[in-house]
Amino acid sequence: MSYAVDLASRLIKCPSVTPTEGGALDLLQAELDRIGFACTRLPFGEDGEQIDNLFASWGSGQPHFAFAGHTDVVPPGAVASWTHDPFSGLIDNGILHGRGAADMKGGIAAFVAAARQAVEDGFGGRISLIITGDEEGKAVYGTDKMVDWLAEQNIVPDMCLVAEPTNPSFLGEVIKNGRRGSLTGQLEVTGIQGHVAYPHLARNPLPGLLAMLAPVTSQQMDSGTDWFDPSTAEVTRLESDGGADNVIPQTASARFNIRFNTEHSQESLKAGLEAHFAKVAAAHDLIWQVGWHCTAEPFVTEPGQLTDLIAGAAEEITGQRPALSTSGGTSDARFLCRLCPVAEFGLVGKTMHRIDEQVATADIDQLTAIYSTILGRLESA
Ligand SMILES: [Zn+2]
Repeated sequence: MSYAVDLASRLIKCPSVTPTEGGALDLLQAELDRIGFACTRLPFGEDGEQIDNLFASWGSGQPHFAFAGHTDVVPPGAVASWTHDPFSGLIDNGILHGRGAADMKGGIAAFVAAARQAVEDGFGGRISLIITGDEEGKAVYGTDKMVDWLAEQNIVPDMCLVAEPTNPSFLGEVIKNGRRGSLTGQLEVTGIQGHVAYPHLARNPLPGLLAMLAPVTSQQMDSGTDWFDPSTAEVTRLESDGGADNVIPQTASARFNIRFNTEHSQESLKAGLEAHFAKVAAAHDLIWQVGWHCTAEPFVTEPGQLTDLIAGAAEEITGQRPALSTSGGTSDARFLCRLCPVAEFGLVGKTMHRIDEQVATADIDQLTAIYSTILGRLESA
């Protein structure tokens, strides 16, 4: 068994359900200490809500390449539904089983193995590993804070590769070179409560609320860009204080989420929607208010040195040249892009966040070879 596959299996045995450290960062630090990395633990957060993170760095030359990842995993769900214990790290018939196998302990094991090999081979540059325990949860005290800390320390890699499982069905399929932003709105409207038999004495907030929501009701908000699909919006919750069939409610509320590309910013979306809400609410004679929560601005890394490097290495090892994509949810690349150019390439994500999460051990070995090739090409560039 390769070092990478063994390390991935040992990482899965650490029950690091977000935001619990679960021994995963301790294990990585022990491995990285042994390889010769200088390790710094970076706990952030309030007392009682502290999240642990690990920054590890080796070498002082140029170029300075960074790998990034998260050791926290989503909860296993119904454990009884798993074929094998979700934290067994069992290897059976060339398959590594367990929560985090794909997302993304397998990817972390691959970059640690590639870094270890590079150190043994006398790599001439610098390698940094940015590993958080807070990606799958609130992601407040993880990579976001680590990026601030790195900037303060003036530790700025030339480029960064995030080992998220970007490939939908086979290794070598997709590099993520950007991600859409995410904006949630909570809209509340107030009318006048009354008896449904006497509607002239009441003011129903629901028809107005529905009209206000029109632009965010399963809508495409643009036609996309060279790098992005159209921005989309979905209503995720509707509520009112009606309660009985003969009561016109006084208040109604809705929650919606917008996944937006670089045609928009959170400010432009808020301004446009607030103008629409004001107009419709005035026509319906309703009082309204909206609260906003933006968890990610969109970003894109234009095709260039980093994407070419990853695509070339993936093609050499797998025979497939990956396509560039900005699809999917948000990732920690949204924070890392403040530091340096960032792209994502990792394992096959088919089973991530699902019962019976698993990866082929051959894929972990191939990913290790791809990461090693990247470091090799970087050095000779
Ligand atoms: Zn992940």
